[in-house]
Amino acid sequence: MDMSVRRVIIIGLTIVLLISTISGVTGCSKRDGKGKGITETDSSLPVGLTSEEQAVYMAIEEVIATQEESVREKDSALYLSTIDSSNATYLMEATYFAHRLAYANLSDFNMNLLGISIEGDGSCIAEIQQSYRMHNQLNTVTYRERFIKSGASWLDHDVAFEEKEVGVIKVFYMPEVGNPAGFIELIEKSLVNLEETFHNSLTENVEIKLYSDRELLRQKTDLGIAWLFTGWAEEGHAIKAFTGREPEYNYEALFTHELIHKLTISVSRGNMPIWFAEGLAVHYGTFKVNGSTYMEDGTVSMDDIKISVLELSETHLERLTEQTDILTYYATAGMVVRYLAETYGDDQVFALYQALGNYPFNDIAVDPAWEQHSDERLRAVLQDILNLNITELSEGYLEWINLQS
Ligand SMILES: [Zn+2]
Repeated sequence: MDMSVRRVIIIGLTIVLLISTISGVTGCSKRDGKGKGITETDSSLPVGLTSEEQAVYMAIEEVIATQEESVREKDSALYLSTIDSSNATYLMEATYFAHRLAYANLSDFNMNLLGISIEGDGSCIAEIQQSYRMHNQLNTVTYRERFIKSGASWLDHDVAFEEKEVGVIKVFYMPEVGNPAGFIELIEKSLVNLEETFHNSLTENVEIKLYSDRELLRQKTDLGIAWLFTGWAEEGHAIKAFTGREPEYNYEALFTHELIHKLTISVSRGNMPIWFAEGLAVHYGTFKVNGSTYMEDGTVSMDDIKISVLELSETHLERLTEQTDILTYYATAGMVVRYLAETYGDDQVFALYQALGNYPFNDIAVDPAWEQHSDERLRAVLQDILNLNITELSEGYLEWINLQS
């Protein structure tokens, strides 16, 4: 993940306005807010559909009703029954999404089918309005999702992305992103940054998904994240990015950050605690490519990052809501890794995540004790490789950070 949060109140108001507009125009409130999905009767079908389109419309509506019910009930198996398993990356992302529902503090999840279009290749693109409530905030998005026919039923194949392939990079992008050539160039540069720092390249294809809608990026990734992030990387997922940041935003730093996640999460076999994964990506990616830290550019104060490693490791990044707290988390994680790198050298830092790869694969999308396992394993390799326990690491970091200006 990468930083930065929108002004939620303004968005909330915009969304409320949007919803009233949309439901006013389409008359599309098809289900009551509390009950489970109800299969539509013919009378609610959009006008002007052919009989083939009517059948597809009703079938897709059923898939959407199943998804809605599975999210409300936090039933991951039911949710996964709607996903096109031939799309391997999307299946991994959906497995994570479904698993994380158990940890998400959400209510009033709704999906409404607004319309369909049957494509030349036999797939169907559905326009969907989706919303849910978190921290008393209603988050709504309208998007176009592709469904494919499999036997008698239709399955969810992911957002209706356009595709472009350049070398090892495969980019999936929303049409609203426009020409992705500029982003592809920055991804290529970021791959070079990764190789230069880690002397290790990504051997497989790199899949990147570009979203023009930041709320959609969250709603297709993890409904439990309390803030709107810009980038995403996780084992087996595509790297994801929101493309609509301010003009001065440094996307090379973002892509380098996410590629570091992709490499190190894969080598460590999912065994890095979040703070350590973020520390590597911030120190060797964000801060290195930006050429400055959040403290140097005045975003975070030096005093704020003088916290113990234990406190950092017990903070749940996904639950933070204040932008200052989120940036402070990233900055502290980055500086703890910088402390390790300056004290022991890059090779010793790299040896930590490499040694974590000797443990069995720790699947964040499956293991309920994922956090405990990754914590224990990092502590073990810190002891083995640097002869440090977590208290000594913390004391060393605090002593070092107090000497930094
Ligand atoms: Zn990150």
